[in-house]
Amino acid sequence: MLTLDQVKLKSHKHLIGLHPVLAAATVALIERCYARGVNIIITQGLRTIEEQNALYAQGRTKPGKIVTNAKGGSSYHNFGLAIDFVLLLPDGKQVSWDLKRDGDCDKTADWMEVVQEAKALGFEWGGDFVSIKDAPHFQMTFGLKTAQLRAGKEPTAAQVKVAYAKIDKCKGEADEVKKDVIVRVLVDGKKVADGVADEGVTYTPARAVAEALGATVDYDVKTKTMTITSKGDR
Ligand SMILES: [Zn+2]
Repeated sequence: MLTLDQVKLKSHKHLIGLHPVLAAATVALIERCYARGVNIIITQGLRTIEEQNALYAQGRTKPGKIVTNAKGGSSYHNFGLAIDFVLLLPDGKQVSWDLKRDGDCDKTADWMEVVQEAKALGFEWGGDFVSIKDAPHFQMTFGLKTAQLRAGKEPTAAQVKVAYAKIDKCKGEADEVKKDVIVRVLVDGKKVADGVADEGVTYTPARAVAEALGATVDYDVKTKTMTITSKGDR
């Protein structure tokens, strides 16, 4: 299984140059999807106007398939206000653009789980576009047209504040879920440790519980064996 850090690292370079709010929302998106058993990679973040023009030329004045209708300066990517993602498969290498895939078998397509989380974080989804649908695309426009952004307009401080509040609200909800599964472990009425409940099994540090019961605990690093000896045996 991939760790959250391993998943995050794969998107790292595409967070560079994003508007700070989008960078924060994107990190939160990766985290929230991970918590739901869906891993994603950000494949595109900031795209410079030159890069956008090169992309626009593809299929028009250059060979290849047409991939965009946006000329340089007319995509929110050009202003660090958009991201594209793809599903990362469990092997940690392959990716998937399959909108129907349900890798975590929860009867909701993984792609749509990502969309749900992104919308909660304040993103608009390219799959909702009326003209050309763009399923891997999320953006935050702050009510600004790209022409306004080209002219140097920026999101206001108030808009940025609202956007951060939305991300924080999502984080708060996630923390509450986490709190729910933390279990207090008492031995003879005394708290000895915190445990974590997962599907009916409580995981708790064995040493803390054993010692609270008066047992001795030995751990052999080589054989990875923990030996608990109760009072009665001594
Ligand atoms: Zn995009």
